[in-house]
Amino acid sequence: MSSLNILIMGVAGSGKGTMSKLIEERFNIPHISTGDMFRKAMAQRTKLGVLAEEYINKGLLVPDDITIAMIKERLSQDDCQEGYLLDGFPRTLPQAKAFEEIANETGRPIKIVINLEIELSALAPRIVNRRLCKNCGAIYNTVTMPSKVEGICDRCQHPLVHRSDDTIEGLNVRIGEHQKLTAPVLDYFLKEGLVIKVDAGRPVEEVWFDIKKALENLNDHD
Ligand code: AMP
Repeated sequence: MSSLNILIMGVAGSGKGTMSKLIEERFNIPHISTGDMFRKAMAQRTKLGVLAEEYINKGLLVPDDITIAMIKERLSQDDCQEGYLLDGFPRTLPQAKAFEEIANETGRPIKIVINLEIELSALAPRIVNRRLCKNCGAIYNTVTMPSKVEGICDRCQHPLVHRSDDTIEGLNVRIGEHQKLTAPVLDYFLKEGLVIKVDAGRPVEEVWFDIKKALENLNDHD
């Protein structure tokens, strides 16, 4: 079986984080989220974190050179040898081109791109009600998927937080960034024939069913 190297794409609130957790558990590959990496750096107040925060809190993308350097280092680590799941990267064409170079250099080319498709009108309630466990990364929704005890993670009992960029204003900027800068990345991978499109407006179990099936088929045909 060759390595399961996956990209997951979709606008903010399309469910990338939720699906990534499920893929990570089922296929036992590291979930690499540039958003999570930036948030960790922000919490630790590192130089990278302080710099990234300025962009993230406005809903803007962090500059390419910083993001590419961070991912290059991460993809070279040993745990990516058997496969990896990239969530939220690449998000611009220069990132996509740099990524292909890195993937070829490290002998870890991409096998499939999962694109989560959703109506923009469905995003606001998902974003405003989203809660995140800072410790284990579990994602909740106060209305559709609440934790058993309000504000506490079911899995690890740590407090849940509301992301500083999960506001209506932030969402609108992120949608604009997605349409302007990330849509061309999808076209790029579509031309390479790597993309599967998934209707992400459905309940979690249904979206997961389709993704799991597609990834299992891919594994079976190796
Ligand atoms: P996410 O957790 O994927 O929603 O990302 C949160 C924020 O982190 C984004 O709105 C961007 O500000 C920043 N970010 C995450 N990934 C990237 C990327 N590949 N390029 C630039 N900025 C990013």
